Amino acid sequence: MKIYDGIIIGAGAAGMAAAITAKQENPNFDLAILEKMDRPGLKVAAAGNGRCNITNKNCPDYLSTLKFLQSVGIMTRDDGNGWIYPYNEEAKSVVAALVEKIRSQGSEIFCGNRVKSVEIIENHRDSGWRHNKAGDSAVFQIDTDNGTKYFARRVVLSTGGKSGPKLGTTGDGFVIARNLGHTVNTLVPSLTTVETYEDTAYIAGVRAKASVTLLFKGIPVAAEEGEIQFTEDGISGICIYNLTRYMTGLPLESYSLEVDFFPGIWNIEEVIEEREALMGRNALLLTMLKKPLRKLIMDQTGGDVKEITKLIKKFPLKVKNLGGWRKAQVTRGGVDLHEISHDTMESTLIKNLFIVGEVLDYDGPCGGFNLNHAWQTGIKAGRAMAENF
Ligand SMILES: Cc1cc2nc3c(=O)[nH]c(=O)nc-3n(C[C@H](O)[C@H](O)[C@H](O)COP(=O)(O)OP(=O)(O)OC[C@H]3O[C@@H](n4cnc5c(N)ncnc54)[C@H](O)[C@@H]3O)c2cc1C
Repeated sequence: MKIYDGIIIGAGAAGMAAAITAKQENPNFDLAILEKMDRPGLKVAAAGNGRCNITNKNCPDYLSTLKFLQSVGIMTRDDGNGWIYPYNEEAKSVVAALVEKIRSQGSEIFCGNRVKSVEIIENHRDSGWRHNKAGDSAVFQIDTDNGTKYFARRVVLSTGGKSGPKLGTTGDGFVIARNLGHTVNTLVPSLTTVETYEDTAYIAGVRAKASVTLLFKGIPVAAEEGEIQFTEDGISGICIYNLTRYMTGLPLESYSLEVDFFPGIWNIEEVIEEREALMGRNALLLTMLKKPLRKLIMDQTGGDVKEITKLIKKFPLKVKNLGGWRKAQVTRGGVDLHEISHDTMESTLIKNLFIVGEVLDYDGPCGGFNLNHAWQTGIKAGRAMAENF
């Protein structure tokens, strides 16, 4: 029976960062990665609409992330606002570079291996099993759905969250962590779309640059500016995703949104009056808004300038529901960070168990913060796992 020095469960961003760093730290560290899907890194390959917003200059540790990415050979560039992407903006090639590095380091990725449980089994000094320098004797037994058992002295749990379940992440890591005694804080889909009571089917597909305010019982609680897109049942876009981070824990019917299609233009009423004089009532919104939206606003206001002004500065939407796990980009909630050493990502409950990435109770806004968290926690765990071994 083979006992690995380390087994990493989940070949996503955090798991692959852990694998690469462990080998960089200690080339003799014998590790394998178990991946449930038939290919590693499916979520990374889908990230940023296939462009992969890999990190962000506003992450305090982004230089460390860049150093790691450079050590893998991943060339990056900044979009001008601090959002960092691979140079070719091709998420798939980020995954290919990570996989290539892992293989060149001599580690194996076993795909099609869904881990269903992790147990600690005691090692006996006289059984011939090798002890690491720290003198740790416990061994983990890792059972997979296909009946294969793996054994390792150190384990990294990097199974991701529950968002985007088609990409392999259905929350298995939370069950495994809970069974090992960890606290898992309430799980909620975050960075997701918003379904509204208003019928948006007519304007579905319309994109606009806008400012959106989130209101709780009519009181503004947060605002975001950026691109929005109307959908068949509501609204989507990066600023909408970010606003969903504020809508957890309280009844959704208390929330509403107001869209300002002309942020920063405070004299819009005058502008419209001038345009009415210049172009006539029927044409006054031409080039200001996309056609279906233009028509909707004209229909709802009858072309009255005051009503148009109100509607285009405070277009109201009442929140009915959030997009759920299928449409969410991250998981809010997860393994309680109080049970994890922040320097090493080692569990404070179970020695030699490391928990990283989206399994942890961390979620950031759009812009590369979530992948940055995955890289960083993976790097820390990989280093800690392989040093002193
Ligand atoms: C559509 C989409 C776009 C996104 N775009 C961005 C972006 O541009 N920038 C950004 O910062 N963040 C983005 N995110 C979020 C980001 O991708 C995740 O936060 C990040 O990938 C989490 O890394 P992770 O390693 O924890 O998990 P993942 O990358 O999800 O990897 C977990 C891996 O574990 C495997 N696994 C799960 N269960 C098991 C099991 N039981 N046994 C074995 N393997 C298992 C999964 O198949 C998966 O490969 C996006 C998310 C989505 C859904």
